[in-house]
Amino acid sequence: MRLTDLNSGRDIGANSLLLEFGEHRMVVDCGMHPKHVGKPSLPRLGLVEGTLDSIVLTHCHLDHLGSLPLLVRGNPRTRVLTSAANTLFVQRLLRNSLAVMGRQREELGVADLPLYTAADIERVEAALAAAPLNNPRRVGRGADEVELTFHRAGHVAGATGFLAVHRGIRTFVTGDVHFVPQRTVPGAEFPRTPADILIMECTRGATTTVPDASRAAEERRLLRGINRVIDRGGSVLIPAFAFGRMQELLMFLDEAAGRGELVDCPIFCSGLGLDLCDYLAEAAKRTRQLTFDRKVLDRLGIIALRKQYADPGRRPREAGIYLLSSGMLVEKTPAWRVAANILDHEESAVFFAGYCDPDSPGGQLIATPPGGDFEFKGLDHVAKVRAEVDRFHLSGHADREELVAFAKDLSPRHVVLTHGDPPAREWMKAALRDALPRAQVHDPEPGRPLDLA
Ligand SMILES: [Zn+2]
Ligand SMILES: [Zn+2]
Repeated sequence: MRLTDLNSGRDIGANSLLLEFGEHRMVVDCGMHPKHVGKPSLPRLGLVEGTLDSIVLTHCHLDHLGSLPLLVRGNPRTRVLTSAANTLFVQRLLRNSLAVMGRQREELGVADLPLYTAADIERVEAALAAAPLNNPRRVGRGADEVELTFHRAGHVAGATGFLAVHRGIRTFVTGDVHFVPQRTVPGAEFPRTPADILIMECTRGATTTVPDASRAAEERRLLRGINRVIDRGGSVLIPAFAFGRMQELLMFLDEAAGRGELVDCPIFCSGLGLDLCDYLAEAAKRTRQLTFDRKVLDRLGIIALRKQYADPGRRPREAGIYLLSSGMLVEKTPAWRVAANILDHEESAVFFAGYCDPDSPGGQLIATPPGGDFEFKGLDHVAKVRAEVDRFHLSGHADREELVAFAKDLSPRHVVLTHGDPPAREWMKAALRDALPRAQVHDPEPGRPLDLA
């Protein structure tokens, strides 16, 4: 098997892999780099010359899905295999991405935006094919037939990893994976049977696993924090990804309210997250691959955040919980705008509940000392950070020790690292060489083919 990492750099970025099983050419994921705008955000699609025999989409986060319309435009007849749940999310998430690119064109004056059109999204929709879980499916023909079996990957609604068997060689691709159950999805259900090649994400390779920060303990700490801030008259902003994370947090708040442990206060959510609640509820009903019920919104009395934000620096008009996207407090998003009403006030708080890139506004806020300045470019406001800022370890990615244990169980001859920043890859390389002394551990150079016999 020959693998080419199509990502633009050795980071999380624009995830995409070209896998060549003999003559069978497959692309796994086709993401868009969240830190770049326009063409630099694309994977190296120029390296995918000639026809593609199959495309696999592991899940619908934009760092895996965002550039798929361009790949499908060049290969309109190639099927995009993915889980049944994912087929229901793709179009909504791509349409949002298209709208964001339209706004960026206006605001940043980037002429090559948007990178694709509504017609390209329609083409992706037409190419989608729902693959069963835990049930092999053959793609390709003759000697280069590949048998694909998809397995639940935890992580986020619809996420899958898969086993590809070609001429007896077994290749397992984790995609983004979480082994611990969440509320909307159970933990990964990966087979722990031997494989020859393991292609593995390593997001949390540089994150020390703190036993005390177990999910349940972190959730209790978050709940105590919310209650404390509301009780003292403040507001809590929880920045959250609209897809997956927001529904997880809604279910978490609903359970706490059901036990009588959540302070009574208004809860505001932003539009895309609420819209995606409908998509998750529909996917839960139709595919049974995840759990989400719209009744959660009614029970919590969720209020849609209206776009008329108050003046930056002034307190929110109504104290409450603001569960808003984006999770990394990206500029111009609802979470970022409401942060301009929160940060100056010592009774309020911003609680991060997921991964925050250090270069994102969220990462910068976490690094700002109390009393420091935080600038809202475009709002003409510099906040003095008096609000409480904290982060809670409720990641959707596997701990590094769990990944090493999984690799040991598969006992592969080759491990290929993907989806991690350089320090994460370094830790994983060292740990895997210890755990699997006979295996070759690869940190592939983007764009350079790697032959794995
Ligand atoms: Zn993901
Ligand atoms: Zn990812």
